[in-house]
Amino acid sequence: MVAVLLGWNPGVGDTWPGYSRVADELGAAGVYRRVWPTGPGTGTGTGTGAGAQPEPGADAWLLLHGKTGSGLIGHGVVASAPYLAAGPGLEGEPRTCVDVDFDVLLPLGDQIPVDILAAGAPLTDWSAAASVASQVVPEDQARAIRDVWAESLPADEMDPVLPVPGTLPQDALVRVGVSRYERDPHARRVCLAHHGTSCAACGFSFEAAYGPEGEGFIHVHHLVPAAQLGPGYELDPVGDLVPLCPNCHAMAHRRRIPYTVAELRAMRSRAGYIGGSVVSQQELDAQADARRILGST
Ligand SMILES: [Zn+2]
Ligand SMILES: [Zn+2]
Repeated sequence: MVAVLLGWNPGVGDTWPGYSRVADELGAAGVYRRVWPTGPGTGTGTGTGAGAQPEPGADAWLLLHGKTGSGLIGHGVVASAPYLAAGPGLEGEPRTCVDVDFDVLLPLGDQIPVDILAAGAPLTDWSAAASVASQVVPEDQARAIRDVWAESLPADEMDPVLPVPGTLPQDALVRVGVSRYERDPHARRVCLAHHGTSCAACGFSFEAAYGPEGEGFIHVHHLVPAAQLGPGYELDPVGDLVPLCPNCHAMAHRRRIPYTVAELRAMRSRAGYIGGSVVSQQELDAQADARRILGST
């Protein structure tokens, strides 16, 4: 899979007002969608280079340049096919654009400097790439960028259950069963509105254990391994997502095909723990649905 480099000069035009605020809030929201111009108004060429159009699912790397500094400052995933759009930051004629779901935006100043990029991924002309809004790079360069990112990124604030965004190929993310559905803020809200915020496997409630500061905190786990999802799959936030505490969530992901909630409960029961909560009919139905989708019994 190719990747796309998105050049961004904060000093030219009004390309991304409020970047710092968005970067601050991204940790809580998980993903931030933004329209990005990838070419002029006509044609959607394929291949690589400036003017070529990235495919949905490709890694998108935000490259800062200009007076503010230069370097690799963010990662996202191309979330749409190219389309024509006019709007904020896109002056004059409609231009070819894609939606990008950004999942990491480093604070201005924390970018990975160009000399480190150039040493780790010498295949790309970084200065030239930063000066165009969009440039598609081939697979070998995409891999080199991913490696530099994985080595240089401060991983301190990242969720230990999930790999740091951008450090694995997108198709490998599917293979290891880690799902970006777990980071979709809308799906999360719907799931928790239905299931509540206690762990579906052990019953742990952060509010009960930590008081008001713990209210609303819980991980959300996707019951259906992403590898099993067909191309037409649409997320059902109530049936396909469950709240899990970070302990149970980490245990669920200890197996490549995640352990089911029923398996986690059985583990705890075998280990001597009495189940901490009564399973609701909805939870049982959701688990039955997940097993059906998985083709097991
Ligand atoms: Zn738990
Ligand atoms: Zn999970």
